[in-house]
Amino acid sequence: MVAVMGYGDGYGLVRCGRGHVHSGRHGAAGLLVYYRDSGGRPHLLLQQRAMWGPGGGTWGLFGGGRHGHEDAVTAALRETAEECTLEVSSVRLHGVLSDDHGGWAYHTVVGSLGGRAPVRPASMESRDAAWVRADEVERLRLFAPFAESWSRLRETALTRLTLVIDAANVMGSRPDGWWRDRRAAATRLRDRLGRLRAAGIAHPPFDVCYPEVVLVVEGAARGIGPSGADGADGAGGAAGGGVRVVAARGSGDDAIVDVVSARAEGVSYLVVTADRELRARCAEAAADVVGPRWLLDRLDGLDRLDGLDRQDRRERTDRSGRSDPP
Ligand SMILES: [Zn+2]
Repeated sequence: MVAVMGYGDGYGLVRCGRGHVHSGRHGAAGLLVYYRDSGGRPHLLLQQRAMWGPGGGTWGLFGGGRHGHEDAVTAALRETAEECTLEVSSVRLHGVLSDDHGGWAYHTVVGSLGGRAPVRPASMESRDAAWVRADEVERLRLFAPFAESWSRLRETALTRLTLVIDAANVMGSRPDGWWRDRRAAATRLRDRLGRLRAAGIAHPPFDVCYPEVVLVVEGAARGIGPSGADGADGAGGAAGGGVRVVAARGSGDDAIVDVVSARAEGVSYLVVTADRELRARCAEAAADVVGPRWLLDRLDGLDRLDGLDRQDRRERTDRSGRSDPP
């Protein structure tokens, strides 16, 4: 950050490493939210900026400067809720793309709605709010920074990731005693997946991707519910919702192939399994496949972070001379 002008948390102008002047001392975030119409075509929510401000009358994303304590998702949702009537709690988050200029960054938070919602402008900064079909966005007079990012985002950002987990195969890849109680082991895996989903993973095109997670269980592990539904896990957090559990009536492999063969519009599938035959069947259905190691590395990494976080809190509590609350 080369120069800071102005005052207040998050407000003020910054000169970035590329020599631009930006508003928002802690960077800025915008919400790219879309729904798909009955033909599967995405429509984006755009803001027409007030005539009096920078880029007056042009169209771009709702959003604004981050406050110091906020992550990009919180900032984008807060700014959007301040500037229009969209019910931001109904947005399903899919990921964040960050454009780091050096000393200042813009974060595009991508999410979707199940269908079109009525939206009106709700602040002085907004002249209008409208859903615009993705292939018609460029017909509008666009806010210059959005025009630049949209040319990169339009091909990639509107595809969301669904992770499909072969529970038996992932559990079987690590001899941790899962065979003594398969149901409990599947429940543990489900809850760890819920935490991973909420924390996000690095997965292109997103810097942080919040995948939908489908856990396919069979045999003795059948009958566990989705996370978030039985109080075992409030997973989801900012990403919303939990882990969907599919109990295979017959073979787990068939159930997994069914999930990826649904080929929902704008969804890419990533299946986690080491099973050779299943890998081939998934590839035939145009799904990507990774081995259990890929998933376990990420789950272990998250557990380590949680452990460090707990340790850090404990040490701070010790230093302040107080004991842990019960
Ligand atoms: Zn810049």
